[in-house]
Amino acid sequence: MILRNIKSLECPICGCSTIIKEEIDVFCGKVSVHCNGQRWERRTFLCGQEINWIPNFEREEIHKYNICTFNDAYKDKQRKILASKKAVKDFIDTLDIDEIRRSSWKGSIY
Ligand SMILES: [Zn+2]
Repeated sequence: MILRNIKSLECPICGCSTIIKEEIDVFCGKVSVHCNGQRWERRTFLCGQEINWIPNFEREEIHKYNICTFNDAYKDKQRKILASKKAVKDFIDTLDIDEIRRSSWKGSIY
């Protein structure tokens, strides 16, 4: 696929240039087109960073949630998630419940 508007060929955070996915918006089998004639486009790099073309503003934007895994904010978020999971599992260990339920509850935390 050739994207018309997104020109970035590498992640703006880490410089990764391996493109793993490119998409355009489609509705009812037809390419969605803004009233200015531009399409909504997305490009994703191997590091996880997604770039979007926003036709309303005629510019590229860095996706808020599908972000570079080498981004410090992403690493910090993952560190907090892991610490929270451990805290929940430690709390489950303190509960006066049978081992099967304890194991089941802890197993449901990924
Ligand atoms: Zn990246």
